[in-house]
Amino acid sequence: MSDNSQRRFRRAVVTGGGGFLGSYTCEMLLDRGTEVICVDNFSSGHPSYIAHLRDRPGFTFLRADVTEGLDVPSGVDLVMHLASPASIPEFYRLSIETMLVGSAGTHNALRLAHRENARFVLASTSEVYGDPLRHPQDEEYWGNVNPIGPRAVYDEAKRYAEALTTAYAKRHGVSVGIARIFNSYGPRMRPDGRVIAGFVAQALAGAPLTVHGDGAQTRSPCYAGDTVRGLLAIADSDYPLPVNLGNVHEVTVLELALLIRELAGSSSPIEHRPADADDPRQRRPDIGRAKRELGWEPLVGLEEGLRRTVEAARRERSDNLSEVG
Ligand code: NAD
Repeated sequence: MSDNSQRRFRRAVVTGGGGFLGSYTCEMLLDRGTEVICVDNFSSGHPSYIAHLRDRPGFTFLRADVTEGLDVPSGVDLVMHLASPASIPEFYRLSIETMLVGSAGTHNALRLAHRENARFVLASTSEVYGDPLRHPQDEEYWGNVNPIGPRAVYDEAKRYAEALTTAYAKRHGVSVGIARIFNSYGPRMRPDGRVIAGFVAQALAGAPLTVHGDGAQTRSPCYAGDTVRGLLAIADSDYPLPVNLGNVHEVTVLELALLIRELAGSSSPIEHRPADADDPRQRRPDIGRAKRELGWEPLVGLEEGLRRTVEAARRERSDNLSEVG
């Protein structure tokens, strides 16, 4: 077991820091006293995610595309590479950008870590397992991925990114960590293409909750705060192999819809739509490695996490409505 006590990082670069998980990563690092250089081009994130961080001492924002290089001053001892579109509509809209940020973007982030002798953490994904034939998925499983399917630009870019990260560790001795993140949810998540945020938005608007297929496909959603704590646990360790970060509590998509509807106090109907192509039937992580190597496991249960997510979305909605009104 590696040392799982907190390391004292002086300065971190967080690519994709203006996104959903990236903004929490910046925030948690600042809370630990680490300076943060947040790099984002806002192709899928939004300036509002980091508006509350702009005035915090030690926070710097750099608007840049990481595929074009990472021009940051030296003195960096941690590189967290989160930049990447992360939802189906974005894979369509930003198909080639998704491949480039996973390949050239990862290369630039690794070069920076190599130059700076910094710890490097890659935000990979459970999508590297594709539509898994093994259940639950442990890190030894190699996956069942369609290289030309609708999610291919993402799956394959992340698989490439993991291979490149491993090559930098072997060839240049860079200290690397790889997080295979499973579905995460929480406040600040955008509704487009993300099942939980979509249901929350629909329930609060009184619109039908659209379930693709029969809704029997499963997900194991993990609260974003837990996921980011896991990312930082990987940063704090020396562990070089992929680690699943996710929640083992598996629910069907239909169960999620019903629970969110109840928590939102909504009477929206459930509406079934055609199933998505290549939508994985089952997703559940085996998190034995994360527990063993990092002492990490999720702390926020599904109902509590969903309650916080619904309340945050309700507040945001009423702020927006009062701005319009
Ligand atoms: P997000 O879209 O909210 O954040 C990604 C950020 O990266 C955005 O702010 C976007 O503008 C930025 N970005 C994209 N391309 C860029 C580029 N070329 N240069 C600079 N910035 C760029 O997504 P998220 O949910 O916060 O995901 C963060 C990371 O975690 C991603 O790498 C994603 O693949 C991974 N991940 C997330 C989940 C999840 O459930 N949220 C699951 C698995 C993996």
